[in-house]
Amino acid sequence: MIPTGSTIGILGGGQLGRMIAQAAQRLGYNVHVYANAADEPACLVTPFRTLGEFDDEAQLKIFADSVDVITLEWENVPVKTLEFLAELKPVHPGAAALKITQDRIAEKTFAKTHGIATPAFLQAKSLDELRNGVMKIGIPCVVKTCRMGYDGKGQAIIRDLKDIDAAWHSLKSDDAIIEGFVPFEKEISVIVARRADGMMQAYPPVENRHCNGILDETHVPAQLHTTIDAAAITAAKTLAEKLDIVGLLAVEFFVVQSNVIMNEMAPRPHNSGHWTMDFCATSQFEQLVRAICGLPLGSTAITAPCMMKNLIGDAAYDWQAYLNEPHAHLHLYGKSEARPGRKMGHVNKKS
Ligand code: AMP
Repeated sequence: MIPTGSTIGILGGGQLGRMIAQAAQRLGYNVHVYANAADEPACLVTPFRTLGEFDDEAQLKIFADSVDVITLEWENVPVKTLEFLAELKPVHPGAAALKITQDRIAEKTFAKTHGIATPAFLQAKSLDELRNGVMKIGIPCVVKTCRMGYDGKGQAIIRDLKDIDAAWHSLKSDDAIIEGFVPFEKEISVIVARRADGMMQAYPPVENRHCNGILDETHVPAQLHTTIDAAAITAAKTLAEKLDIVGLLAVEFFVVQSNVIMNEMAPRPHNSGHWTMDFCATSQFEQLVRAICGLPLGSTAITAPCMMKNLIGDAAYDWQAYLNEPHAHLHLYGKSEARPGRKMGHVNKKS
């Protein structure tokens, strides 16, 4: 067990790191952030930080020497960085899980191997492979960069054979996945917490609605048939166990004809879990701290049906309006500039 009063190291300085830090501090932990710049959201909530790139071993060593356990808020931290740090301090989640979840082909292959349904998929490393792959998968299909894609970036829908060339060039990558287009009824996600001793606790499935490829709203609970709820939770727990996650695993699914089909997963807190800060017995951020420190996992019971709305770009300028709503809880991330598509904050409301 890592007791209260110890120092938790967080790799990454974004809003997820900020909210992990705030939850850890509430439980009496100190927080040390490793980030690029001192004005990143997580750096603003702790006096303890090391600034550097993820390949700067001298800075990483200073960071590791200052903390008792390390977690991350960005799943694309290089695997080499995690391996280097793991020689010095416990790192949760570990490099092996990250290696799989950083690559869409590895992630879907892993899920399939463990009996979890995914969209049909193929790899394409050239325009020719894309052309051949699209013929096999069929139209419509979705082509995505294998690595580093987020918020709908690095992907294109192919609805017609003549879209193929433009789709390939828009990716600006020579490593892509082609996926069959899933005509889903709903998009849902499940977050599972897991401790080193294998103890797990899952949050109830929630429904996610996207706008321009970015999560816009999460509705809680997802209002699915109980068998779909159970299938999603079982699949997410299987993945967390097989990946040997210590911390959190967020898994996104498509719901189609009463089946759940895995879209992607992330071994960290997830935007679709932000509602837990105000309408759940234990927030996902506190749960992560509990999991990596070997504390008892908290209840994941919903305290009231609710929804989370992201404040993206200029939408953040409406923040004062939310303060007048009796059941709205406003969270702002301390980012100074509201660029288009940038997540600036969110609001949790009773529904
Ligand atoms: P992703 O980055 O993989 O989460 O994709 C972003 C969004 O694109 C998803 O939340 C879906 O709305 C949509 N999408 C991605 N993959 C597919 C697919 N294979 N079929 C249908 N829609 C998809």
